[in-house]
Amino acid sequence: NPASLVQIMLHLGEMVTATQSVSDETLQLLGAELNYDVQVVSPEEEDRELLESFDIEFGEDEGDEADLVPRPPVVTVMGHVDHGKTKLLDTIRNTNVAAREAGGITQHIGAYQVTTEHEGETRKITFIDTPGHEAFTAMRARGAQATDIAVLVVAADDGVKPQTVEALNHAQAAEVPIVVAVNKIDKPDADPHKVRAQLTEYGLVAEEYGGSTLFVDISAKENIGIDDLLEAILLTADAELDLRANPNQAAQGLAIEAHLDKGRGPVATVLVQRGTLRVGDSIVCGEAYGRVRALLNDKGQQVQEAEPSCPVQVLGLTSVPSAGDNFIVVPDDRVARQIAQQRAARQRSAAMAKSSRRRTLEELFKDMEKGQPRELKLIIKGDVSGSVEALEDALLKIDVGEEVSLRVLHRAVGAITEYDVNLAIADENAVIIGFNVRPEVRARELAEREGVDIRYYSIIYQAIEDVENALRGMLKPEF
Ligand code: GDP
Repeated sequence: NPASLVQIMLHLGEMVTATQSVSDETLQLLGAELNYDVQVVSPEEEDRELLESFDIEFGEDEGDEADLVPRPPVVTVMGHVDHGKTKLLDTIRNTNVAAREAGGITQHIGAYQVTTEHEGETRKITFIDTPGHEAFTAMRARGAQATDIAVLVVAADDGVKPQTVEALNHAQAAEVPIVVAVNKIDKPDADPHKVRAQLTEYGLVAEEYGGSTLFVDISAKENIGIDDLLEAILLTADAELDLRANPNQAAQGLAIEAHLDKGRGPVATVLVQRGTLRVGDSIVCGEAYGRVRALLNDKGQQVQEAEPSCPVQVLGLTSVPSAGDNFIVVPDDRVARQIAQQRAARQRSAAMAKSSRRRTLEELFKDMEKGQPRELKLIIKGDVSGSVEALEDALLKIDVGEEVSLRVLHRAVGAITEYDVNLAIADENAVIIGFNVRPEVRARELAEREGVDIRYYSIIYQAIEDVENALRGMLKPEF
C-alpha cells in the first residue's frame, strides 16, 4: 500500500508523500528494491505502441529493397544572423527556371523544391524555407528529423560567429552532413580562405585541404556559385546518404508548419517522407485529423498527389498540428479520429506527469545533486534590445563560485515564441526569462504541456535575485 511504499522510499533515502508524483529514476529505484522490472515508457514508444495497435508503423518503408526509389535530399539552411540565409533561400528559389516556367507564383509554405541538372540528370532538391536552426530545433525537440543535409552559410567578410558554431553543433549532433556556403564573396573584404581555416577547428575540413566537407564560394546577392552549391548538395547526398523511399505505400511524413487560415481553416505544410499523399486520403497529424480536401504545392497550385521529399500544404484537417508532428495516412476517417483522440487524451495525462518531472528553477538544485552538470541555461526575451542586453550582462556577472555556471542559449527581442520553448526543451530544460514580455498563445500552451519553466519579470534586480538564488541552490551542500 502507499504507506509502505513511502516507508521503502524513505529507506532508499527519498522523502516522498503518497500523493506526490515521482521521477522515472525513483520508480526504477523502487522497482529494483522490490524486485520488479520497472520499464519507463517514453512518449515516443507510447506513440509507437498506439500506432501498432492500429497496425501502423511510423518511419518504416514498406516492401522490399526493390520498392525503394531515390528521393530528393531535404536541406536546411543555417548560420549566423545576417550572413545571408534568407537571401540565399530567395536566390535559389528565384533563379530556379522550372519554377518560373510552371507559371505559378511562389508561395511561402515553409519549404520548396527546385530542379537542377546534375551529371546529365534532372534532379530535385527540397529546401526548408525557415532560415536558421528554428525549424531544426523545433523538430529535434519533438524527436523528429526532417533534414538530410545542412547548408551552413558563413559570410566571407565576417567569418565564423557564435551562431555559426551553434548551427554546426546542431547539425553534427543530429548527424546531418554539412555543406558550407561561403557567402558574400562579392564583398571587397571577403576572405573565403579564412572561413575554411576557421572551420577546420570544428571538424569541418574542406576537400581542398584534405578533408571531406564541400565548401562552395557564393554570393547570394550577385547570384554567383548557386549552381555549384546545388551540385555540392547532390554530391554530398550521393556520397554520404542513401536517400530512397517507397512511393507505393500509404504516405507518412512530418508537419513543418501549420496555421489557422480564416477562409480555409487549418492549413498544414507537410513533408512527405515515404509513400504518396493524395487528395481524399484519411490522415492523422499529431492530434489533428481529417480527410485531405486539397493539396497545394509551393507555387500555390493544386496538385493531386505528393511524392517522397515533396512539401505540400494540406487542407482538410480538423485542427492545427504543431511543427514536428508526424502525419500518417490511415485506412479510413474512423481510424484517424481514434488515433488523434487517443493522442490527445494521452497528452493531457502526460502533461501532468511531465510538468512535475521537468525542472523548475528550484528543482534544478536536486538534479544537480545527482551529479548532473551544474549549469543553468537561460533563454532571455525582452521588450527592447537595451533591456535584453542589460539583463544578460547583469546575469552573466553573477558570481557564486566556479562550480556553477550560467549559459545564455538564446536572447532576443520580442514575445516568447514556440521556438524559444522548443529550444528550452531541446536543450534539456533551459529556463526562459521574459522581461516585460508575454508568451504567444501557442508558446504558452506548449510550455504548459511540456512543463517548461517561464519566468516573467519587469524589474531587473528581481530577475537577478532569482537567478542568483537558483545558482546558489546548485552549489553542492558542504558536509
Ligand atoms: P540572414 O539573417 O542570415 O537571413 O541574412 P539575410 O539573408 O537577411 O542577409 C543579411 C544582409 O546581407 C542583407 O542585407 C543581404 O542583402 C546581405 N547579403 C546577403 N547575401 C549577400 C551577398 O552574397 N553579398 C552581399 N554583398 N550582401 C549579401
